[in-house]
Amino acid sequence: MYDFLSVKRTLGDNWKRLNERIAEVCRRTGRDPDSVKIVAVTKTATIDMIRALVELGVADLGENRVAELTRRAAMLSEWLNRRPLEVAAGELVRPRWHMIGHLQRNKVKSVLPWVGMIHSVDSLRLAEEIDTHVGAMNRKMPVLIQVNATDEKQKFGVAVAAATHLAEQAHTLPHLEVRGLMAMGPLTDDVTRIRQVFTRVRELFDEIVGTRLCGPQFTELSLGMSQDFEYAIEVGATYIRVGSALFEGIELPVAVATE
Ligand SMILES: *Cc1c(COP(=O)(O)O)cnc(C)c1O
Repeated sequence: MYDFLSVKRTLGDNWKRLNERIAEVCRRTGRDPDSVKIVAVTKTATIDMIRALVELGVADLGENRVAELTRRAAMLSEWLNRRPLEVAAGELVRPRWHMIGHLQRNKVKSVLPWVGMIHSVDSLRLAEEIDTHVGAMNRKMPVLIQVNATDEKQKFGVAVAAATHLAEQAHTLPHLEVRGLMAMGPLTDDVTRIRQVFTRVRELFDEIVGTRLCGPQFTELSLGMSQDFEYAIEVGATYIRVGSALFEGIELPVAVATE
């Protein structure tokens, strides 16, 4: 039987444990724990689990696919809209959805109404497409430039050597706020290699800040996932994107998992 109370308890424990681990790295490296924001990546979660995260105070949610992001964001939004009518309802933060995966230009329009930040801008053509649609909605969209810092062929992201130029070009678009960089760590548990890649991203970030061409709002570094977020915090990550560490110990029956 799917016992949601026990799922909720496990989620609460995992959330607490994650925050303790972040606090520990921050203590060690002299950082303020509030400077590290967690994007809870919900791609393996059910809608019940996403609601439970919101009740825990999770303010940032992430998905790597447009169809999943829009579907889950719509369901969550409907639930939040109904909630004030419930007797026991306290004030809940309306979470912000982050698009963290590869974004195709023909999907931009459908994701924009639901998304509060796009981490995966890796070409000028994509940046321009976002700018056009955001302009039509009379909004501004915070974005990060995704960098391929590992040189692994299958990964998305702009090459390190081209990142500064892309960031500057995207910054000139009127409806985009270029807020920083995003990168994926290497697929390895070789700590030296992970630190090397993360340090490279940090150096690139500093270089772009140094040019002053992207303005004072270029402050965010989205780096690190369940396996490597501690190393990412060491080099200055301001967003870590964590999925599996939040959902570990939760077993879902197939029927619920595909809800
Ligand atoms: C799935 C995903 C994550 C989270 O990965 P975990 O290992 O489950 O923490 C982070 N970033 C991106 C881009 C992802 O697709």
